[in-house]
Amino acid sequence: MQLEIKNLSKTYPNGVQALQNVSLKIDKGMFGLLGQNGAGKSTLMRTIATLQNPDQGHICFNDIDIQEHPEELRKVLGYLPQEFGVYPSSTAYELLLHIADMKGITNVSQRNQQVESLLKKVNLWDVRNKKLGGYSGGMKQRFGIAQALLGDPKLIIVDEPTAGLDPMERNRFYNLLSEIGEHIVVILSTHIVEDVSTLCNQMAIIGKGKVLLHGNPEEISSRL
Ligand code: ADP
Ligand code: ADP
Repeated sequence: MQLEIKNLSKTYPNGVQALQNVSLKIDKGMFGLLGQNGAGKSTLMRTIATLQNPDQGHICFNDIDIQEHPEELRKVLGYLPQEFGVYPSSTAYELLLHIADMKGITNVSQRNQQVESLLKKVNLWDVRNKKLGGYSGGMKQRFGIAQALLGDPKLIIVDEPTAGLDPMERNRFYNLLSEIGEHIVVILSTHIVEDVSTLCNQMAIIGKGKVLLHGNPEEISSRL
């Protein structure tokens, strides 16, 4: 399983060069994308998620060009955007069923089974019938991960996922992610160095739209 990013560039209409010739190879496991605010992380994440197009370059997942075949990528993608909006008046159970339906999991018993097992996995089963508006930040994040895991994704993208979590919630969230990351490609975008050094087996640092360093975290910290 591999995500390959080749010579990706993106300039916004206002002239900001958000990505400049970015190339990365990302294998199975947890990949940390580290960079300050404005470095280009969200632009890269949204481009991988096929929510926006680059001006130049290609992205291949398992040798399939995702701009040419966005529908193939979306089938295997779980995405937790930076600002994941939940509908405050629906319950976790209702919303997850609805999202499962939208993701094309149309078989009712399969859908119910998957929603139940995911809510248990993220430890929200007991509060499944409570409204999301009453959830804490950590609970909302765990809900966000549950929806990203629907449909058995092979690639998961999480963008600045720990903002607003207390240390305990953060630990729980990371335990969950590393469990998932054993089997598929997980990309974690963050500006927090410790998140990457404790969790990731591969990493890159980007700044001003360029890849500054790329390798394993020990290798990189020895060069800093
Ligand atoms: P981040 O925390 O990733 O740096 P930003 O604050 O840069 O996020 O961006 C938040 C949202 O606003 C994003 O959807 C981004 O595309 C948009 N955005 C950021 N900068 C600009 C800009 N200069 N003009 C228009 N939209 C922008
Ligand atoms: P990060 O996620 O690392 O904070 P972003 O990808 O959000 O970085 O932003 C990279 C640069 O592009 C920033 O200078 C930001 O203001 C700018 N930017 C992001 N989105 C937009 C947008 N939609 N329009 C114009 N500029 C944007």
